[in-house]
Amino acid sequence: MALKLLVSTRNAHKLREITAIMQLLGVELVSLNAFPDAPEVDEDRDTLEGNAIKKAEDLHAHTGLPTIADDTGLEVSTLAGAPGVRSARYAGENADDAANRSLLLKRLRDAEDRRARFRTVIALATSEGTRLFEGICDGIIIHDERGDGGFGYDPIFQPEGQSLTFAQMPSDAKNRISHRGRALQAFADAFDSSWLEHAKEGDSA
Ligand code: IMP
Repeated sequence: MALKLLVSTRNAHKLREITAIMQLLGVELVSLNAFPDAPEVDEDRDTLEGNAIKKAEDLHAHTGLPTIADDTGLEVSTLAGAPGVRSARYAGENADDAANRSLLLKRLRDAEDRRARFRTVIALATSEGTRLFEGICDGIIIHDERGDGGFGYDPIFQPEGQSLTFAQMPSDAKNRISHRGRALQAFADAFDSSWLEHAKEGDSA
């Protein structure tokens, strides 16, 4: 029987992206949809690492399955790493993507240093403990929005060495160089089914 790994998301897009990278590893991915009673985990920690660890450990405790959870932030150099862990709610608790982008452009209106990076942290929680993996995509914040693909800050983020923003790239091109793609690849590279197998022995499911 294949090893089961819980991916702490209900987002079909994220699950597809993870499946594409993990399919060669012989792991059966299960999403939160299989656990309708799983608790909603509040992302209230002040670091990406804190949120990823909290989500992975809470859901591991609830399901007994080895669990991965991710958290992502956009870190802008001249803003000392903001919006960072607050990227989803930069312009306020219920702010949408457009409001977050427009606040960031306003704060950077006169900035010459426009360097930024996306950073994704993935936590894997098993009965053996928790491990972290990281993926970074460096780039710059441009002055005006370009492109209508993607989501979040994609229309104003141009990855290093590219002439297009994330919002102008086909999704497979973005996934190859993105923070999330790189964090997943770091997880897949470090993956050794023996430690997951070992951890499973102590798990209740
Ligand atoms: P999450 O941890 O994946 O939910 O990401 C938190 C926030 O970071 C999102 O609400 C977006 O604002 C931003 N974000 C994460 N990944 C991306 C991306 O690939 N492109 C643009 N914005 C992103």
